[in-house]
Amino acid sequence: MNTPDHIRNRLLQSKLDDLIRHAKDNEKKQAQYETFGFEIIDANTPAELRYLLLSQLKVRFQLQNVVLCLIDQHKDAARLFFDQDEKSRPNYENRLRILDIIHDSKVIDTLHQASLTGADVLEKYHWMITDLKNRALLKSAAYLPLVRRKRIIGALLLLSHDAKRYPQGIGTFFLQKLSAMIAVAIENCLNQQRLREISYQDVLTRVYNRRYFDLRLKDEIARSLRWKDDLVCMFLDVDYFKRINDTYGHQIGDDVLVHIASLIKMQVRACDIVARYGGEEFVVVLPATSLQSAHEIAERLRQSVYSNLHDFQGEQFRVSISIGMANLQSTSTSPLQEKPNCESIGTLLLARADAALYQAKEGGRNQIAVFANDDMKQQPPH
Ligand code: GH3
Ligand code: MG
Ligand code: MG
Repeated sequence: MNTPDHIRNRLLQSKLDDLIRHAKDNEKKQAQYETFGFEIIDANTPAELRYLLLSQLKVRFQLQNVVLCLIDQHKDAARLFFDQDEKSRPNYENRLRILDIIHDSKVIDTLHQASLTGADVLEKYHWMITDLKNRALLKSAAYLPLVRRKRIIGALLLLSHDAKRYPQGIGTFFLQKLSAMIAVAIENCLNQQRLREISYQDVLTRVYNRRYFDLRLKDEIARSLRWKDDLVCMFLDVDYFKRINDTYGHQIGDDVLVHIASLIKMQVRACDIVARYGGEEFVVVLPATSLQSAHEIAERLRQSVYSNLHDFQGEQFRVSISIGMANLQSTSTSPLQEKPNCESIGTLLLARADAALYQAKEGGRNQIAVFANDDMKQQPPH
């Protein structure tokens, strides 16, 4: 029967079915966004967060690409976001833009506090996609601001080849929720990294501090023993540093320490550990290195410090360092080692490098000494 009532009922029924289907779709979408949001909040390291934001987001939501930009408030975002994992940086370069608060202030001003969708977004935020391959194929985008406490900390661009994916003016409730979670996750991750840095880094020179060094030395010794590699430990002490402070002032003394730390970092590999052990004393551990190669590195280092001229109100002065070193292979097989464990081997290794440093000082400074035997005296306690 096709009475007007029946027709109206069928129409209503089909509308209702559509609404139910739509509601179910939304529920599914919401669950998907929420699951992903919680995973992001749970990310523990910058590497995990990068993977979720720049790889997984694209895969899970079938996007063509994703671009993340971060406003670098404290000039540390790039360092913190990549941690030690500098190698992976090029993989993300064109999808992660770190904006300098001064230099990029003009583009930062264009970042809206509200989300936007449509093809216009591609035009409006073209600077975020200029380095992307196949950008000409992009047809629609969603722009999601990352906001924390009413302050914009960055933005995310979700990109699609499908013009219908993000048409202008669609509801962005789920996307907004997701971007709020992403903003929290990014802020937490950067803050956690900052805390990690503070607890492991020497504030003045930005090399590791002694606490971190002590933790790492044990691990490096264990690894070297397992792989039957040698490992060299060096103590470096600035010669007559007290005079530098007394003559040019404490501030210049600090500058000299910062400079020496940067010269040390330039001469060693990324896998070597450089730490400030005390006032004007640094320690370097070179895993998988022979005593001979370490000696060459030490000599380059000694020369680079000595050849560098410092300036104080037009007066130029030189600084020298003395270096003492000892290697693991002769330390770990030493008969002195009653109960060989990594901690006591580490203590002995450091004591030997210190004894060698004392020898270098005694020998006239600005030189390198290698631990030879246990008749070598150790320095008096610092
Ligand atoms: P040596 O050649 O025997 O090593 O002589 P030295 O003068 O370098 O050694 P000494 O131990 O007599 O003096 C070290 C000085 O380093 C004393 C201390 O005030 C200074 N010092 C320690 N930490 C800092 C610092 O963070 N900044 C500055 N400017 N000076 C520091
Ligand atoms: Mg000194
Ligand atoms: Mg000293």
